[in-house]
Amino acid sequence: TLEVRDLHKTYAGIEVLKGVEFAIDKGQVKAVLGPSGSGKSTMLRLMALLEPADRGAILLNGKRIGAEDRGGRMHHYPERRLAVERRDIGMVFQRFNLFPHLNALENVALGLTSVQDVAREEAKERAYKMLSRVGLGDRDHHYPSELSGGQQQRVAIARALVLNPQVMLFDEPTSALDPELVGEVLDVMEQLADEGMTMIVVTHEVRFARRAADQVTLFDSGIIVEQAEPEEFFENPQHERTKQFLRHVH
Ligand code: ATP
Ligand code: MG
Repeated sequence: TLEVRDLHKTYAGIEVLKGVEFAIDKGQVKAVLGPSGSGKSTMLRLMALLEPADRGAILLNGKRIGAEDRGGRMHHYPERRLAVERRDIGMVFQRFNLFPHLNALENVALGLTSVQDVAREEAKERAYKMLSRVGLGDRDHHYPSELSGGQQQRVAIARALVLNPQVMLFDEPTSALDPELVGEVLDVMEQLADEGMTMIVVTHEVRFARRAADQVTLFDSGIIVEQAEPEEFFENPQHERTKQFLRHVH
C-alpha cells in the first residue's frame, strides 16, 4: 500500500500542492486526470522521492519514506537511505530520457549495475528478459535514435521495471508520442496492470483510464477533487468541476 498524507509543496511562494491525500492498495491502478499546471507532475516527483515535500508524508506499506519536514526545517536525510527507498518506486516520464550513447539493452541494464551492484552478465540477462517482456527482444542492440518513440518509451518502462519496484508511476507516458504509437505503449501498461503491478498513471487517455484503472482521480489546483471507480467517475461524476473537465476531454 502506498499512502500520501496532507502533501504540500510551494514553489516561489505559489502553493502547487495543497494537502493531497490518497491511498492505493497493492495491485491497484489509479488513473489521474487534471488540467495543465494543476500539480500532477509535482505530486509524482514527490512520490518518487525526487524532491522533498514541504509538509505531509508518504508511506509505503505503513512505513514513512523520504525526508521528513519538522516545523519547516528539513532535517538531514542521508542520500544513501533515499537511494534505497527510491528503489521501490519506478517512474516513467513523458520524455523517455534514455542515454543516447547506450543501446536499449545497456539503457535497461545500467540501473542494475550502477545502483544495485548487480554483476554485468546477470544485469544483461535480466535486462534482456525485461526488454522481451515489453516486446523489444529483437531491438536490444538498437540505439535510442534507431528506435521509434513508442519503442523508446517501452525501453524506459523496461528500465524502471528491471529494478523490481513495488509501485510504478507514469507521468503522461504517451503524450509525446505520435498517435499511431500510443497503442503499443498502452498495451504494455495494460499488460503490466493485469499482472498485478501497483500503478499510478497521470494521463489524458480516457480509454486507458476506463479499461485499466481501478480508481480514477481528478486533480485540480493542487488538490484531489474527485475519486471514484471508472464507471462512476465517467458516467456519474459528483462534482461540478469534474463534469466541466469531462466536457472538455470527451
Ligand atoms: P501538465 O499537465 O502541464 O504537465 P501538471 O499538472 O503536471 O501540468 P506541474 O508540472 O506539477 O503541473 O506544475 C504545477 C505548477 O507548479 C505549475 O504552475 C508549474 O509552473 C509549477 N512548478 C512545477 N515545478 C516547478 C519548479 N521546479 N519550480 C517552480 N515552479 C514549478
Ligand atoms: Mg505534468
